[in-house]
Amino acid sequence: MTEEVEIIKKTDLGFEPNLKNYDETYKNFSWDQIKTEIIYFDDGKMNAAYNAIDKHLETPNKQKMALIWENDAGEVQKFTFAEIAELSNRIAGVLKKLGVQKGDRVFLFLPRIPELYYSFLGILKTGAIAGTLFQAFGPEGIKDRLGNSKARFVITHSTLVSRVEQIKNELPDLEKVLVVDAPYDNFDFKKETSEASEEFEIAHMDPKDRAFMLYTSGTTGKPKGVVHAHQAIIQEYLTAKWVLDIRSEDMYWCTADPGWVTGIAYEILGSWANAATALVFDGRFDPEKWYSIIDKYNVTIWYTAPTAIRMLMKAGDEIVKKYSLESLRHLASVGEPLNPEAIRWAHKAYKRPFHDNWWQTETGAICISNYPCMNIKVGSMGRPFPGVVAGIVDDEGSELPSGKEGNLALKPGWPSMMMEIWENPEKYQSYFKGDWYTSGDRAWQDVDGYFWFMGRADDVIKTAGERVGPFEVESALIEHPAVAEAGVIGKPDPERGEIIKAFCVLRPGFEESEELKKEIAEHVKKHLAGHAYPKEVAFVKTLPKTRSGKIMRRVLRAKELGLPVGDTSTLEEY
Ligand code: ATP
Ligand code: MG
Repeated sequence: MTEEVEIIKKTDLGFEPNLKNYDETYKNFSWDQIKTEIIYFDDGKMNAAYNAIDKHLETPNKQKMALIWENDAGEVQKFTFAEIAELSNRIAGVLKKLGVQKGDRVFLFLPRIPELYYSFLGILKTGAIAGTLFQAFGPEGIKDRLGNSKARFVITHSTLVSRVEQIKNELPDLEKVLVVDAPYDNFDFKKETSEASEEFEIAHMDPKDRAFMLYTSGTTGKPKGVVHAHQAIIQEYLTAKWVLDIRSEDMYWCTADPGWVTGIAYEILGSWANAATALVFDGRFDPEKWYSIIDKYNVTIWYTAPTAIRMLMKAGDEIVKKYSLESLRHLASVGEPLNPEAIRWAHKAYKRPFHDNWWQTETGAICISNYPCMNIKVGSMGRPFPGVVAGIVDDEGSELPSGKEGNLALKPGWPSMMMEIWENPEKYQSYFKGDWYTSGDRAWQDVDGYFWFMGRADDVIKTAGERVGPFEVESALIEHPAVAEAGVIGKPDPERGEIIKAFCVLRPGFEESEELKKEIAEHVKKHLAGHAYPKEVAFVKTLPKTRSGKIMRRVLRAKELGLPVGDTSTLEEY
């Protein structure tokens, strides 16, 4: 299904990875074996927050930096593991005093400040369910989520509280709004926290007891409330170790916000469970700033998203040369398909390849990945994590042979699988077909077991009897020197069913013209099978994206066809 496969050899690494032999490990793996690396209390119960933070208090990592935070203004705050443990205990103590119960939903609506990180852990320590809301949500977005989850408490900030006030009266279950930085509603949360005990009796939880919930990115439709259990830490821990290759000596920078699952699984839980120092930059995207952060803190592991990589590529090579970036050891990417051109460019510019990996809010942790110990087939998402069985199935749930496009599916049983879609059992059930969990993504598997992403089921284009994934067309488009980013949709056509329409953002220095449109379409025609080229090309200044940086093709489609856009709570202004 692919032409020629381009390979980046693992031998280019220059370090000995945590996972040394993928095939052997995959073959012999069982989740039970790794239970020895997870801390269970004497009664067999556990707590994900304990596994992320407090377990380090028994080791020399106790006094190590857990969190280094910097904002746009250059302010810096640093916290050791002991301090994060203590601060989260204090938050837990305050919540307990307020009467929080096991299973209550406590939501965080905070900027990306240190309080967000230790409050999340504080909630888990009480046995309540922590929820996160991205800071840019407007009143409607907040209302939907707090209303759907029947949240009892929301922890917010003086700069955001007015948005909660606007909708508070429409939320009968919301008992109290807590503001972390100023007294509010006769309650001084900050003072209460500083006066609370630095000790807390961490709740002993059943591995399947709920720990956190969050709403999906809303790329394909209305966001779903995905609920995860404490046992998700098992897979978050091990994937952080084997995929992100985190060790305690690492300076680890994950650019995701905890409003999304990556920021929870790999900025709070899995990464801290491996004792990494987490760097958090609470600021706007800016290539020079990003590179200077890497140099300033000697970042060793960098986990980011294709949208950022494409924007860095757009900013060009010259800027890169101004920085050393030599501390970088391992790079990984998630959230969207990573275009081959972005991998090639970054490999040259940073002398390290990005390792693409695939997972979803629902899967709770990385499920398919390129590993440091494995050659990268450029454009592939890699192979299933040990203990995860992945396959391609038809719409009835029967497995398809290699080379055949179908639904990307997983065999239920991986520890971080969602427990439920909040109060929506039908939606939850709809993911399961036959023996499989189906992801809603279309993909195919090659004979070596590598998975190749085609597109979201909703985005796949049917043109002249052929199915075309937008990803391959977009990837071919950005291989044209004029194109920085592209979003591709199917547009109804009486003759062909659909035709391919491409929306392109040009690189700096290129002028829009009819000529260029033709040239771009021709370029794709040359690189892909004849039917997969865009009949129509449009130039746009920006693409509609979710606030986590995913191209929202449904918005492009709705606009093109003059249809209602649907839920836009996660749409970034564009
Ligand atoms: P919604 O479910 O609300 O439409 P969403 O699917 O974007 O939003 P997330 O759970 O944040 O919400 O994202 C998971 C999806 O992101 C995957 O199903 C897949 O489509 C895409 N994705 C993530 N990583 C990759 C990757 N490495 N390659 C291709 N696609 C990816
Ligand atoms: Mg999804």
